Amino acid sequence: MPDRAGSDFNRKIQTRTVAPEVANPIRPIDDIIDKLWDHRLRQSENDRKQMDASSTLCTSCGLCCDGSLFRIAPLVPEDGAVTPPLRSQEDDDERFLSLPCRALDSEKCCTVYDHRPRICGAFRCALLDQLDGGIITLQDATQKVAVAHQHKSRTLAVVGQFVDTDGRGMKDIKQSYRGLSNADQTRDARSYKEGEFLLKAFGHYLRNTFLDNRQVTLNSAPSTISKQEADRP
Ligand code: SF4
Ligand code: SF4
Repeated sequence: MPDRAGSDFNRKIQTRTVAPEVANPIRPIDDIIDKLWDHRLRQSENDRKQMDASSTLCTSCGLCCDGSLFRIAPLVPEDGAVTPPLRSQEDDDERFLSLPCRALDSEKCCTVYDHRPRICGAFRCALLDQLDGGIITLQDATQKVAVAHQHKSRTLAVVGQFVDTDGRGMKDIKQSYRGLSNADQTRDARSYKEGEFLLKAFGHYLRNTFLDNRQVTLNSAPSTISKQEADRP
């Protein structure tokens, strides 16, 4: 049998056995833990930044709470009794949160955040999804929200010459506006037409920017409720 002590094969084996990772097996484990920990920290930091961005957007918006996007939002049994400032209404066997929500303050923050109904935590509009998905920047998303509020102010200023708009959702306002008598409409026909146009344009902007035929579904034993945006603007 040939002696392989001095062969290339043996030298390769020897070289491998003195490689640092084998000489000190604890080291690579430390490295892996360090890397995992770094990754976790980076992930937490990204999550925190994402949450900050979402929160910044929503506190500049409030359109899903103030009656612009929806007239009602579904409640589930786990939400328990609805107490002021929240208001609820019933339809068949289902309960709904009435919007505009009175828990929304002038800074567009929820004053009952820790006890808000389940649907409030579950709902995400299309714009928020785009922000979270990195499809749009916070700056551009905030700009879209600002445009929506400008649309709303202008619409209410014109429509408010004909119907009461205080504390009312857009759908109710629209219904009252369309139900105006001929005499009321022709009192200032030009402004009435402008109001009609603005209502339509605002609804169109809201649908395109915040809703994309999405359904808000909330699973809850024993019942499953699904909110179709039937009352969309
Ligand atoms: S409409 Fe969208 S961006 Fe605005 S508050 Fe609701 S979830 Fe946030
Ligand atoms: S309870 Fe809070 S989150 Fe829910 S609709 Fe009212 S203001 Fe918005």
